[in-house]
Amino acid sequence: MKKVLLPEKIVPEAMILLGEKANVVVAEDSSEESILAEIDDTFGIVLRSKAKITRGIMDAAPELRVISRTGVGYDNIDVQAATDHKILVCNLPGINAVSVAEHAMTFILSLAKQISTMDAFVRSDQWEKRSSTEAIDVKGKTLGIIGLGRIGREVMKLAYAFGMSVLVFDPYLSSMKSEVTFSKTVEEIFIQSDFVSIHVPNLPETSRMVGWDLLRLMKPSSFFINTSRGGVVDEKALVRVLSEKRIAGAALDVFENEPITPDHPLTAMKNVVLTPHSAALTRECKVKMAVEAVRQVIDCIEGRIPPHIVNSEQLIV
Ligand code: NAD
Repeated sequence: MKKVLLPEKIVPEAMILLGEKANVVVAEDSSEESILAEIDDTFGIVLRSKAKITRGIMDAAPELRVISRTGVGYDNIDVQAATDHKILVCNLPGINAVSVAEHAMTFILSLAKQISTMDAFVRSDQWEKRSSTEAIDVKGKTLGIIGLGRIGREVMKLAYAFGMSVLVFDPYLSSMKSEVTFSKTVEEIFIQSDFVSIHVPNLPETSRMVGWDLLRLMKPSSFFINTSRGGVVDEKALVRVLSEKRIAGAALDVFENEPITPDHPLTAMKNVVLTPHSAALTRECKVKMAVEAVRQVIDCIEGRIPPHIVNSEQLIV
């Protein structure tokens, strides 16, 4: 049986599936040294997010033919080195779209209903304060979506189910579907929306695309939500609009530098909901990600072409 290396453990469902087709070895930890200790006769790697697969590792891996990511991003793999070594890099586009979209919708509802504040009232024996806050209904409110890709589309469906209007900015999709209301400028999204939710990739062109110039256009009653990547938002500008009460609140799953520390200014703000980059960490999603990543390795073991190859010019398995 071919050897498949796991720099980090994966869920039992995926371990069992892989164990039927391969000799599965779990590295001692996800460090380069531990991977190097096992790599020389390894055919495939199932890769979560901690370990980095470098050119040095590939140089030491004459048998390596496939590196299969359990998620969408593959910035922990040197793809150019993989291509040079004729190693397939596989990922799973869209695998976590529903989980992340549900997280974004949960943020929207949590901000609207002031769940954190209300929860704190109950726990601190301040029940009578419940009418001092102004929770709102989302029905009839406008959600601005920036980036209508796999996740953005799922968010749009959820927003429609709650009776919201949706306004979209995605310059790469302007000719799409008639049921989508496109905004010509990103500024219009910030001016008109009650909630703005961003779902763009983290690229040089999107780096800090949401800064003071856009955030200052928002209504004082509006909310900003980011479940994409911390790098697409200028965090200092966001802290400023929140502390100056130019917007009503924000909810963030992702940050410029992760993990954030307890002294980060956002942690002291009551009008902010924070989660630790956990939007895709649902039970269902973890199982799906690991099982589908394993299936792509099994495809390679059995001589089939896996469905999601990043460096598709390398089709020789
Ligand atoms: P996707 O590639 O399917 O969609 C991205 C969309 O953004 C595309 O439609 C593209 O046209 C659009 N876009 C690109 N540049 C734009 C710009 N300047 N302005 C407006 N739109 C622009 O990606 P996806 O799978 O929907 O993922 C979206 C984001 O969510 C990514 O940043 C991804 O890393 C992130 N993500 C976060 C988590 C999490 O755990 N929080 C999990 C998965 C994905």
